[in-house]
Amino acid sequence: MPARRTAIVTGSTSGIGLAIAHALAADGCNVVVNSFSDTPDDHAIASEIAKSHSVEAVYVKADMSKGAECRALVDTTVERFGGVDILVNNAGIQHVAPVEEFPAEKWDAIIAINLSSSFHTIAAAVPHMKKAGRGRIVNIASAHGLVASPFKSAYVSAKHGIMGLTKTVALEVATSGITCNAICPGYVLTPLVEAQIPDQMKAHDMDRETVIREVMLDKQPTKEFVTVEEIGATAVFLCSDAAAQINGTHISVDGGWTAD
Ligand code: NAD
Repeated sequence: MPARRTAIVTGSTSGIGLAIAHALAADGCNVVVNSFSDTPDDHAIASEIAKSHSVEAVYVKADMSKGAECRALVDTTVERFGGVDILVNNAGIQHVAPVEEFPAEKWDAIIAINLSSSFHTIAAAVPHMKKAGRGRIVNIASAHGLVASPFKSAYVSAKHGIMGLTKTVALEVATSGITCNAICPGYVLTPLVEAQIPDQMKAHDMDRETVIREVMLDKQPTKEFVTVEEIGATAVFLCSDAAAQINGTHISVDGGWTAD
């Protein structure tokens, strides 16, 4: 049996990152689970992944808003597992406000967590991947990496930025057995999104189904949420041998949002 691959998934205690961590573990990878806190619940998530999929999984605290911690996450992984085969840059936050009212500290935080963190983790991981002669980098971008929506200036800027980073890194690593790609999800039903539904029902005086269809999924032609499992499966595919020649591009999983 080939040696287990080691995967880092940033921001993987919730939502899409958690599903990707499970999907990669189910595919036989050892997994490093990450967030910025350090609670028993965080470590329990890693234990649960290890138990469910009979792999090794550890929780490593690292705040993705800080470049040095992003790099330390990679270093800790290499010390623990001897290398890093898969890097999934998933950690992300959101803030919604008109550009003239957008708080500067929110702008800085979103650019740091949603964009600069990937620069730091990639810069730290690529030398190890090059040495091994293989690697997969998957950046979780968004439909907002391709198109804009009002009131999301920082998020849209960061997600467009991650598309540029993806393409640039792909060119640089192309002859080293490494690929770098992005996944562009549409609206995904994560705990974060689920929590907004009751407020939206109140604000619009609509039932749950109408809020989902007419408010939240206005731009998503299927009028259905993407599931976290669908994003997990897409990440597993991009990390597979079958995807060896997919490099410097993105896969949209958005129900047709960006079809034009
Ligand atoms: P989520 O809030 O459920 O999960 C975000 C994860 O990132 C959590 O584990 C959180 O602890 C972690 N995180 C936040 N700040 C961090 C920091 N400073 N350092 C380390 N970890 C941090 O969100 P989600 O919906 O699963 O989003 C995950 C990614 O998918 C984000 O990059 C987001 O932009 C992207 N995305 C989400 C959607 C959607 O509809 N949910 C759509 C497109 C793209």
